[in-house]
Amino acid sequence: VTNEARVPLTIRLCGPRGFCAGVDRAIQIVVLALKKYGAPVYVRHEIVHNRYVVEGLEAKGAVFVEELHEIPEEHRGQPVIFSAHGVPKSVPADAQARNLFYLDATCPLVSKVHKQAMRHERQGRHVLLIGHAGHPEVIGTMGQLPEDAVSLIETVEDARAYEAADPDNLGFVTQTTLSVDDTAGVIAALTERFPNLKAPAAESICYATTNRQDAVKAAAPGTDLFLVVGAPNSSNSKRLVEVAVRAGAQHALLVQRADEIDWDHLGPLKTVALSAGASAPETIVSEIIEAFRQRFDVTVELAETVQEDETFLVNRELRDTELTVA
Ligand code: SF4
Repeated sequence: VTNEARVPLTIRLCGPRGFCAGVDRAIQIVVLALKKYGAPVYVRHEIVHNRYVVEGLEAKGAVFVEELHEIPEEHRGQPVIFSAHGVPKSVPADAQARNLFYLDATCPLVSKVHKQAMRHERQGRHVLLIGHAGHPEVIGTMGQLPEDAVSLIETVEDARAYEAADPDNLGFVTQTTLSVDDTAGVIAALTERFPNLKAPAAESICYATTNRQDAVKAAAPGTDLFLVVGAPNSSNSKRLVEVAVRAGAQHALLVQRADEIDWDHLGPLKTVALSAGASAPETIVSEIIEAFRQRFDVTVELAETVQEDETFLVNRELRDTELTVA
């Protein structure tokens, strides 16, 4: 097919998209640990929710485990890294009991939510955690507190049904990667019933989640298809798909790689928008644009709502190790 014969297609490329400062830092921690301590370096849980990233680090010598007991006795001297999502307090305690050397890659913004939850508890409040059951970040945040000190609220229905033992002493925090709009609805439903509900001192939903959702909202209206690069277990990526549909995209899909796109069933396309979750590498965004270029006469428009400049320092132990891009 010659270029002239191809159907014109506009790709609205959202900005900001893809890696956030917390994901970038977590990946750097694994790469630097491999460089400083040599392979194997153990990582508890997927460092960030992306297969491509995980496989890339495996190729460099990282070994992913779900629990610390999976680390073989003979490798107990090698570091183990906790993922960006955070861990319950029992995990570092378990690492110490096993004499493991650990490096914590919990995003500083998740640690901040942990501190806010603990502060509510210190001030005598029962903590309501707004988030999705089973997500590692939720498990980690709940695990900062005794079991009876925190209740999980997933939906507006949960907020309406929640029975408080002491309705005037409640405080909330949220998962960092929720839908900004849905969370506002859950908080409104809680506040209606519990007017003394205390908010955390700082917003729990992080800057990266908010910025990516804002960019998706701006780009979605009038698009025939909205593609979000991300993994099915990536909370923030799934929220972007929902936001895209609500903001007016005809259709929105989560894709991990270009070869997952079912080209024969996309329907007629004039405008496609493209974003990526906070754990999705830019390489895959480029791969998808390239796949469209092979089939359409593509014009890329940047749809940028804000520029980000956040960066987070790696752990003290790794600051003397130079990062070289492999
Ligand atoms: Fe940190 Fe937000 Fe990125 Fe999660 S999405 S790692 S909280 S910056």
